[in-house]
Amino acid sequence: MTYTIKTEKNEWEIVCGLEIHCQIISKSKIFSGASTEFGDDANENVSFIDAGMPGMLPVLNKECVRQAVKTGLGLNAQINKHSVFSRKNYFYADQPNGYQITQYEYPIVGKGNVKIDLSDGTSKNIGITRIHIEQDAAKSIHDLNPKKTYVDFNRAGVGLMEIVTEPDFRSPEEAGAFLKKLRSIVRYLGTCDGNMDEGSMRCDASISVRLKGEQGLRERAEVKNVNSVKFAMQAIESEAKRQVEVYEQGGTIEQQTCRFDQATGQTKFMRKKEYADDYRYFPEPDLPPLDLTDEYIENIRAQMVELPDAKKERFMRDFNLTAYDADLLTESRETADFFEKAAKGHDGKKVANWILGDFFARLNADKLTLEQSPIKPEMIGQLVDLITNNTISGKIAKDVFALMFETGQSPIKIVEEKGLKQVTDSSQIEKIVDEVIASNADNLAAYKSGKTNLFGWFVGQVMKASKGSANPQMVNQLLKDKLDK
Ligand code: MN
Repeated sequence: MTYTIKTEKNEWEIVCGLEIHCQIISKSKIFSGASTEFGDDANENVSFIDAGMPGMLPVLNKECVRQAVKTGLGLNAQINKHSVFSRKNYFYADQPNGYQITQYEYPIVGKGNVKIDLSDGTSKNIGITRIHIEQDAAKSIHDLNPKKTYVDFNRAGVGLMEIVTEPDFRSPEEAGAFLKKLRSIVRYLGTCDGNMDEGSMRCDASISVRLKGEQGLRERAEVKNVNSVKFAMQAIESEAKRQVEVYEQGGTIEQQTCRFDQATGQTKFMRKKEYADDYRYFPEPDLPPLDLTDEYIENIRAQMVELPDAKKERFMRDFNLTAYDADLLTESRETADFFEKAAKGHDGKKVANWILGDFFARLNADKLTLEQSPIKPEMIGQLVDLITNNTISGKIAKDVFALMFETGQSPIKIVEEKGLKQVTDSSQIEKIVDEVIASNADNLAAYKSGKTNLFGWFVGQVMKASKGSANPQMVNQLLKDKLDK
């Protein structure tokens, strides 16, 4: 889908790349033994290393390396057997060492790619440039006291994966689709919890614009630390429009760093961009280079879980689902597992309809997560069977579903206990049909004289008299036979 910004004179296109910092799921920090627990009291989980005490030596956490390799494989990327840690020097109160330990020239993961699906049904491959691992900074807290800033070192030294993409995004939608896909992949892998609002996944977007058809890249602005998919899309759109306006008025864009203001939906200038030179990177003298063996990498590859793309294709194939439904059902591993348990041995397409329709609507209405659902997945499969084999009608099924949700009981038990079984005994239905016709002589006469739209009314009366239990097809057939004879 082509996205352009049109002005009176010109048509502009967006060129955007993303850098995403993902906090690695690991029990302890990347270079110290302190806990990574989120939400503990401030400065509770701080070792001497995290506090930047002189003479402390970092020790690399194996688990963080494994998680980064897993993530690289999940993004179809090259794993670099040789990588090197570097010092990135800068001063900030939340970084007591005066430098960050990161990777620079030799990152642990190289080029990869991620497929995104767009709303017009097309898909696109987004290039991954690299992933490097590094330590997180502490967290500055500005809003506790109007005159002071506090620093919480619990976050200092938590492992990060910085995932850098190629400048492949041409629209806010593409960037949004990528962030959702990346979040889904790291959650499937269990390498990052992907909670953007808690800061465990933070997005920087580099944005420039150029005339449609123009080659090469113009100067870019980098929007820092956007904390939701929606805000990232808004930031890209508003920054691109701002740049177009500057160019159209004859101005120039300087390379710069900005932040996104959630209240106005606009980007705000922060500072002129630092260049790599400013950080005086050099190899970290306290850590040896990281060398991995083929065996180590292959071992991790062998333990990879099925990822969303593969799962989606399998669901479409095995359960005859549309791409759209398969997409929704595979967005999270929990939903996909729930669906598979529900569909096993039943009509998968119908099960998908119940889950994506009534079931999710009810979960939302009751503000429940999937884990809190009173309905077990198997019960949805059973409900579908009861409809398919004509034990209950689709209409009664809705009532049964509501009772399942309220009681947590199986549909089989509910149908039995409440006597909701559909009546398919034609003599029983015929008796009701006869009674309804006999006691409504005027409407029968009206029907016979040509008011054939009364047919639906007769159906309604019979259904009502049977308390909804009569098989609707049989009611229709019997009424037709009797009214039209
Ligand atoms: Mn970084």
